[in-house]
Amino acid sequence: MSIKTLGQIKKGIEELKRQEQFEDSSLVDLEKLLRFELDFKRKMKKKIDISSVFAKNIKEKLENGEHIADFSNIKIDKKWILDGFRNICNIRRLCDSELEKAIENGDFDLLRLQKNLIIGDTFSFKIPSDKFGIDSEILYSIALGIFKPIFELCAEGTKGLFNDYKWKYGRCPFCGTYPRMAKFEKEVGKRKLWCPLCSTEWVYGRAKCPFCENDNQQLLRFFSVEDNSPYRVDACDECKGYIKTVDERKKSIYCTPKTGIKPYVEEITIFEIEDIKTFYLDNIAQNEGYKKLAKI
Ligand SMILES: [Zn+2]
Ligand SMILES: [Zn+2]
Repeated sequence: MSIKTLGQIKKGIEELKRQEQFEDSSLVDLEKLLRFELDFKRKMKKKIDISSVFAKNIKEKLENGEHIADFSNIKIDKKWILDGFRNICNIRRLCDSELEKAIENGDFDLLRLQKNLIIGDTFSFKIPSDKFGIDSEILYSIALGIFKPIFELCAEGTKGLFNDYKWKYGRCPFCGTYPRMAKFEKEVGKRKLWCPLCSTEWVYGRAKCPFCENDNQQLLRFFSVEDNSPYRVDACDECKGYIKTVDERKKSIYCTPKTGIKPYVEEITIFEIEDIKTFYLDNIAQNEGYKKLAKI
C-alpha cells in the first residue's frame, strides 16, 4: 500500500527513529520528502487526466503477459513539474537556478526523462547532468520524487483491479517495472509483490523468483537476521537476484529481544517505509553476492 495519510508518515518516521539506523537529520529530510510526495499527489489528482495512460484492450494485454499502462501518454503542465522540482530542491537544499531556468524556458524537458525513469535507464540522466553540472543520481531521484506520485495516482485509477490478481510474471502488471519488495499477507500468507514505481501490488507464486521466474526449490533460499523477525531476504541462485520480504504473520508475534516489547502495533505494510527500515538487509544480501535487480 502506498502512503495515504500524514499519520502514516509520522508513524513511519517514529519507527525509523526508534530503530537508530539513520541520523535524525536525514529523517527530518525524509519526512519532508514524503510529505511533499503526498501533497503533490493530492494536488495532481485534480489537475491531470489519467485516462490516456490505460491501454484499450486491458484483458487481452494481461492475458498476453503485457502490462497495461503507458505513462508516456500523460499530459502534465510544465508549471506543475517546475513547482515539484523547486520543492524537492528546497528540501534537499540544492540550488540550481540554471537548471530551473532551462526547465522554465524549455531548454531542458524534464517530462522527456519520464520515459527513461520508467525503463530504469539511469544512463540517460547523464547528458543533462553533465550539461547542467548536477549529479545524475540526484537528478534521477528528483525526477522520481516528481513522477512517482503521478504514476501512483494512475495506478489508483485501476480501482483495485490488481488487489487479488494472480499474475504469473515478476514484472508489475500495471507498468512493467520489477518489484522492489514482497510480503506474505497476514490472513492466509498469500505472497504479494510491490512495484516501487507505481505502488501496485499483485499476487505471485510463493516459491518462485520474480526476476527470472525460476521455481526450482534447490536454487531458491531465504535468510533473516533474527529468528521470528518479520523481515527476510528471498534470494535466487539462478539469476542472483534478491527481494526483501515482510512477513505480516510474524509482525503480531515478534518481540524485540531484551525488552520483550511488540514493536508492530500497526500491521498494515507501507512498503516505502519498510524498504527504508530494511536497508541493512540490502547490505547483507549484497555482501552474500546477490544483486538488486529492481532498477528503481
Ligand atoms: Zn508498477
Ligand atoms: Zn532468479
